[in-house]
Amino acid sequence: MTWRGKNRTLQILASAEKGRYGVLAAIVYNVEHITAFVRAAENRRSPLILQLFPSSLEQTPPLIHAAAAAARSASVPVSVHLDHAQDSEQIQYVADNLPFDSIMVDMSHYEKEENLAKTRALREYCHGRGIAVEAETGYIEGGEDGIVGTGDLEGILTTSEDVEQFLDAGVDLLAPSVGNLHGDYGPRGPQLDMNQSVAEREAWVFRTDSCRLHQVGRALNGRARLVLHGTNDFPPELCRACVAVGVTKFNVNKLVLDPWHEHLRRNVNKPLTQLMGEGIEVLTREMEKWMDVVGSSGMADTAGAPATP
Ligand SMILES: [Zn+2]
Repeated sequence: MTWRGKNRTLQILASAEKGRYGVLAAIVYNVEHITAFVRAAENRRSPLILQLFPSSLEQTPPLIHAAAAAARSASVPVSVHLDHAQDSEQIQYVADNLPFDSIMVDMSHYEKEENLAKTRALREYCHGRGIAVEAETGYIEGGEDGIVGTGDLEGILTTSEDVEQFLDAGVDLLAPSVGNLHGDYGPRGPQLDMNQSVAEREAWVFRTDSCRLHQVGRALNGRARLVLHGTNDFPPELCRACVAVGVTKFNVNKLVLDPWHEHLRRNVNKPLTQLMGEGIEVLTREMEKWMDVVGSSGMADTAGAPATP
């Protein structure tokens, strides 16, 4: 079998594309998050992708090893992904030394030609080590806790020409800029680029004919998996609509972690182990709910080979 056939992120997402469901790719900042997310996946018999930001590699170096151990010992398919890796030297170090199944090679803060050239070179480096590669086309506005700030760059929406160029650079997973943004959406809520009227938006009518996400999915035409970033504040209806037009890797951060933060704030005076235990419970329930929403619950047995050899 080639490295692609054995790569856990690719196995999980290939099965999702075939089965037309989404897989949550959830940012973890600590071991409680890892514990809760894997527990939810096992409870729901769902595949899962655990994601770390590069900042975690500096702040809590053991975390990647905890994530990889949890993925390997899970009874459902779980892979480990590095999100928004923006430093070429760090990407090479990670590919050589750390147990990631896939890396987002994020060169989106460079001009397009340089972005493509760097993406291609780093993709070759990662593929040479059995690691799948995600890239961002266009530029997704905003920032999240743990992503290096790139100033006030304005979002650049992805075109079908971008899709061809990134496929030509050999990436496995593509994260387009389709009106989504990192961080919070503000009072109007998520605004994906689809020429909706206000009434349609309020009724969660998803205009597939004019929806940029759908157009990107059609342009990909099965040649790479479609990834959605910037899902804070997404209601379940919008998550399901995105999955329906082909999103398989569904990145989540605050969407899932907010109730856990709220639990910490409300219960800070409780004994630590009780605070942690109840927090894991809150987060497990929350994750299970979103697994149901994106349709991955019950899909573990068809989601490629189990993580354990
Ligand atoms: Zn992102």
